[in-house]
Amino acid sequence: MTEDQQIRLLPPELQNQIAAGEVVERPSSVLKELVENALDAGATRIRVQIRDGGQSSIVVSDNGQGIAEHELELAVTRHATSKLQSLQDLQDIRSFGFRGEALPSIASVSRFRIASARDDGDGSALEVLHGRILRQDKTAMPRGTTVEINDLFSNVPARLKFLKTPATENRKCAELVARIALANPHVDFEFLNAERSVHRFLAGQELAQRLHTVWPPDVVEALYAVSFEDAQLRIHGLIGDPAMAQARPDRILVYVNRRPVQDKTMLAAIREAYRGRILGKEYPQAVIFLEVPPDEVDVNVHPAKTEVRFQDESAIFRAVRRAVLQALERESHHTPPAEYAEPMVISQLHAALPIMERSVSVSAPSSESGTKREDLSFDQAWPEKFASSTAAQRLFETTDHAYEHTAQPTPRAQSVAVPALRYLGQFAQTYLILASGDEITLIDQHAAHERVLFNMLRASGSRGDRSPLLMPIEIPLHPAQLAAVQEIWTKLDGLGFSLEIVPGPTLLLRSVPALLTQTKAREFLQDVLSDKATTMDDLWAVMACKAAIKAGDTLTADEALALVDAWQRLPEKNFCPHGRPVALRWGVSDLEKMFKRRS
Ligand code: ADP
Ligand code: MG
Repeated sequence: MTEDQQIRLLPPELQNQIAAGEVVERPSSVLKELVENALDAGATRIRVQIRDGGQSSIVVSDNGQGIAEHELELAVTRHATSKLQSLQDLQDIRSFGFRGEALPSIASVSRFRIASARDDGDGSALEVLHGRILRQDKTAMPRGTTVEINDLFSNVPARLKFLKTPATENRKCAELVARIALANPHVDFEFLNAERSVHRFLAGQELAQRLHTVWPPDVVEALYAVSFEDAQLRIHGLIGDPAMAQARPDRILVYVNRRPVQDKTMLAAIREAYRGRILGKEYPQAVIFLEVPPDEVDVNVHPAKTEVRFQDESAIFRAVRRAVLQALERESHHTPPAEYAEPMVISQLHAALPIMERSVSVSAPSSESGTKREDLSFDQAWPEKFASSTAAQRLFETTDHAYEHTAQPTPRAQSVAVPALRYLGQFAQTYLILASGDEITLIDQHAAHERVLFNMLRASGSRGDRSPLLMPIEIPLHPAQLAAVQEIWTKLDGLGFSLEIVPGPTLLLRSVPALLTQTKAREFLQDVLSDKATTMDDLWAVMACKAAIKAGDTLTADEALALVDAWQRLPEKNFCPHGRPVALRWGVSDLEKMFKRRS
C-alpha cells in the first residue's frame, strides 16, 4: 500500500473548507448566517455593509448579547455552538443556528475578524486567515458583535468563478436583508452598499410599511391580510390583489417559524388558492408566515437551512391554501362602502341617486318602503324576471332550466349587500360602464358573460341540454384526436353532444349542446381536442367562452342590464373562468388621487 492510500483525518481548516462548500455558496449566504447569528443573540439593531457585491468585504454589527473573551475561539471552531446541547434539543429548535459550522466555514474561506463584547467597553477581537487563527486582542467596543469578512473565497478560485457580477451579488444581498427584516419587525435594520444606504427598516414598523421599502407602491397599496389559526398552527401575512399578479415568482416569500424558506408545499398551496383568479402564467405576491410547533418541522435538512420537512405536509398544504383563499374571498366580497354598510331602505337609496336611469338593484321586489337591502330575495326576483325578458333571451336562451341552479345563492352571497349599480353605457363595444354611490366600474362584457355561463353550466352538471341536428355534422379526426375524443367521451355526452365514430376516422355529431350554434360546436371540439382539455371545469370554461358574447358585440341597454344583473348575483364573480378580471373599479378616493386633488 502506498502512502497516498492511507486513511487520514483531514486537518480542521480543510474540514471547514469542505463544509463551507455547502453553507456558504455566495456573499448573500454568508450574510444570512451572520444576520441570523445576530438575531439569535437577541440584537435589536443590525447594521450590514458590503463592498463589491460582498466579495471584498462584508461587515455585520449587532447590539446582541456578545461573546465572552474566552469563548471567541470556540465560536470559530466547527461543531461548537451555544444553541444546542442534546438530541432532544435538535427536535425542538427555536434558534436560527444550531449546527455550529457557519463561522468556522466562513473563516476558512476568507480573511475573517470577529470582535465582541458582553459589556460596554469590554471587548475582544479575533483574527483568522483561511481557517488559521492569527491573533486575539482586547478591544474597546459597545456591547454586541461585529463580524468582518474580507476577500471572500480568495483561497477557493473555483467558488470565485461562480459569483455573478457585483451588481447581481449586491442585489441578492439586499434582498436577503429585506427578507429577514420582513420577519423581524421589532429589529432595526440598516443595509449599506459601500457608503450608500440601500435599506433602512426602523424598529416597530408594520409588515406593510417594510414592504413599501422593497415593493412598488401600487402592489403594496392593494394587499390583503391573511390570518388563520387552528389548534396546530398559525398562518399570517399579506397577499397581493389578483389584479396585480406578475410574470415572475419573485414576490412570494414564505417563512416557517420566521425562518425564510423555499418550501414547495407552501408555494404550491398559495398558487392553488389563486387558481382561477390569475392567469396560468402569472404569479401573485405573498408574504406568508407559518408558525408550527418546532417538533413538527425538521429544519435540519440541508446546511443552508432553507429547506424544511413537515411531519404532515398535506395538512400544511390545506391550511395555507385555506388561509389564502379566505383572505381572497373576504376581499372579493369586499365590505360595502361605508354609506352602504347600514341596511338601507330602497326608497332612500333612490332618493340618494338623482339620475336613476336604470338601477340594477331594482330587480328586487320594488315594494314601497321597508324593504331592507339585505332582504333582497334572490329567488323571488329570479328567474321569472328574465323568463319574460327578450333581452335576457338573447343572452341566455335555451338555458333557463340551468338558471334555476345558479339562482340559488350561496349563503355567503346572500349576506353581502349588493350596491345599486347604474348602467351608463357601453364603451368600445366591449366594456359596460356602471356607477354606484361612490365607485365607477368597468365590466368586460365577454368575461362577465363567460363567468355567468360557466357557473350555469357547472350548476347543471352533466345534464346539459342538447339540440338534435337534422343533418349530422362530420368532423374528420387525426388518429391522435381519436384517442383524445374517446378519453372524454362521456363528458362530451354530459355536455349535450351525441357522438358517433364512423370509419375515416370521422366524428359524427347528431346533437350539440343547446348553448352552442353548429359552428361554435365545431370550434369547441377543435379547441378541446387541440388544448387537451380533460376536466369538466376545462370543458365548461371552453364552452362558456365559445357561447359568450364577444368583445365588439353591440348590446342594447336591456341586454347589458340583464348581463350585469346575472353576473352580480354570482358568488364568485370577479374573475372569468380563465382567471382574467371581469370588473375594474375606482372609488372616489382613487379618482381624487389620479386627478391629484389629494396626495
Ligand atoms: P450556530 O449559529 O449554528 O451556533 P455559528 O458558527 O454560526 O453556529 O456560531 C457559533 C457560535 O458563536 C454561536 O452558537 C454563538 O454562540 C456565537 N455567535 C456567533 N455569532 C454571534 C453574534 N453575533 N452574537 C453573539 N454570539 C454569536
Ligand atoms: Mg449561526
